[in-house]
Amino acid sequence: MKEYTMTPSGYVAYLEAVSRRIRENKDYVTQLDAATGDGDHWANLNSGFEKVLQKKDSMKQMTFQQLFRSCGMDLMSGVGGSSGVLYGSAYLAAAKAAAQMETLDVAGLSQVLSAELEAIMARGNAKPGFKTMIDPLYQGTEAMKAALAEGKTDAEVLEALRNGAREGMEATAGMEAVRGRACYQADKGVGHLDPGAVTMYYQLDLLAACMKEGGEADA
Ligand code: ADP
Ligand code: MG
Repeated sequence: MKEYTMTPSGYVAYLEAVSRRIRENKDYVTQLDAATGDGDHWANLNSGFEKVLQKKDSMKQMTFQQLFRSCGMDLMSGVGGSSGVLYGSAYLAAAKAAAQMETLDVAGLSQVLSAELEAIMARGNAKPGFKTMIDPLYQGTEAMKAALAEGKTDAEVLEALRNGAREGMEATAGMEAVRGRACYQADKGVGHLDPGAVTMYYQLDLLAACMKEGGEADA
C-alpha cells in the first residue's frame, strides 16, 4: 500500500495539467456551454488558469494555505461568469481548510474538497442534482469519504474520487437545470451535459492522477 502525498510544487504541476486539459478541450466545452448557456465557459476557465499560472514560480515556494489563497484571488478577480466567483470561493475555502497542511495527503485532500464543495453550494445557493459543477464534486467527494471510512488504500480512495466524479458529471445530462443559464432553456438542458460539470470532472480526474505521482489520467 502506497501513501500518496502532494507538495505545493506538485500542486502547481497539477494546475499546469488542468490548464493543458482545458486548452485541449476548447471546442468541446465551448459547444456544451453554447447548447445550454452563453458559450463562454471555456474562455472563462482558460483565462482563469492562465492567470493563476502566471505566478507559478512563486507558488511553488508557498504553503498550501498561501497557494490556495493566491488561486482563489486570481480566479475571483480574473475570471468572468459564475464560474470565476464559484471557483474563487472554493479556493478561498480550501485555503482555510489547508491552514495546517504542509503536504496534502489523501485524507487532507478529502477535507479540502469538502470545504470547496460547501463553499460552492453556499455561494451558488445550489445543491447536488441542480445540474452544475457541484454534481461531480459532490459525488466524487462522497465516494472518496466512503472509501476512506472503509479503510481502503490510497490508490482505491483516489479511484473512488475519480469514478464518483465521472458519474456525477455524466448524470448531469439527464438532469433539469435548477441553477445556471440552462434553467432558462425550455428543456432545462435535459439531454446535454453541464459544461461546468465537465470541467470540474477534468480537475478531479487530474487531481487523482497527479496525486498518484505522474499516473495517467484516463480522459
Ligand atoms: P455563466 O453561467 O455566468 O456564463 P460560466 O459559463 O463560466 O458562467 O459557468 C457556467 C457553469 O457554472 C455552469 O455550467 C454550472 O456548472 C456552473 N454554475 C452556474 N451557476 C451556478 C450556481 N448557482 N451554483 C453552482 N454552479 C453554478
Ligand atoms: Mg457561460
